[in-house]
Order: sequence, then structure tokens, then C-alpha cells
Amino acid sequence: MAIRPIVRYGEPVLHAPSAPVQRIDPEIRSLLTDMVETMYAAPGIGLAAPQVGVPLRLIVIDLSVGEDKTQLIQLVNPEILERDGEQRHEEGCLSIPGFGGSPTRPARVRVRGLDPEGQERVYEATDLLARAFCHEIDHVEGLVFVDRLSPLKRDLMKRKLRKRAREGWEE
Ligand SMILES: [Zn+2]
Repeated sequence: MAIRPIVRYGEPVLHAPSAPVQRIDPEIRSLLTDMVETMYAAPGIGLAAPQVGVPLRLIVIDLSVGEDKTQLIQLVNPEILERDGEQRHEEGCLSIPGFGGSPTRPARVRVRGLDPEGQERVYEATDLLARAFCHEIDHVEGLVFVDRLSPLKRDLMKRKLRKRAREGWEE
């Protein structure tokens, strides 16, 4: 197990769609384990593979941040099957430290993917879990929450983020 460096806004891997995983082999399982470790260390409630520089469709989520092992979700090739309603809450992102925004998200989603053993998993999620699924699945599509803000807020934040990316991110 290893904690991997988290890439920051502006790195191309965060802004392009990731590739589907063709086969869940030991390398993929070890990457998932590293992602969980990295998420807990940050600490955060979700992480996607492009955030550790790997352009593959893998996400991990744990709303308890390791306090309750039953809440850990590790999904390969996640996809949103259904979405209903709307909710808006402040979100942050481990790849965009120091920034927050409130994108419109579905109130409820149904998500499908494969677990590390290759078994199909379907989740029904509302509230924070629905937002976390949408946020992490956006990452494997090459989107960050900033891309989901209103045009005015998005442009303002992107200007600040470009400046930050030029000058370097402080911890
Ligand atoms: Zn994020």
C-alpha cells in the first residue's frame, strides 16, 4: 500500500476522459488500495484514479473517511444509470485545494460498476453520497466541479485557478 501524490487542477490527466478498465488484475486492485489509502490520508471522502495521475475509470468513496469500513465503495467503470431531482451544496476537491463551489447535482442517482472482485454493484444514493458519486464520476469523464458552475462563477474561478497553477499550489 502506498499514498500517491494527488495531481492538481491544470494537469491534463484531470481534464480529459479516462479509459475503461479492461481487466481487473492485481495491478488494478493494488491501485484501488493505494487510492483508498491516499483518500484517507488527505483526508477526503472520495477520489478518482485521474487524481493520482492514472487515466482509468476507477473511483473510491467513503463518507466515514475510514471510521466505518462498511461505507467504503470501490468501483471500476462506474456509470450513472438514473438521475432525478436537484440539489446544490458546497463541494471541494482534493485536486483544487482552497477552492469551493456549489454545482447543481441530481438529488438521487442510481450507479452501477464493478467491485474489486469483478462483481457488479448497483447503488442507490441521495444527499451527500449522490453528490460524491457525481463528483467522482465527473473526474473519470475529465470534469471537475468548476466545470459545473454557472458561466460567470466558472470563468472567475478558472482565472484564479490558472493563476494558481502558474504560481504553484501551496499545501
Ligand atoms: Zn474532486
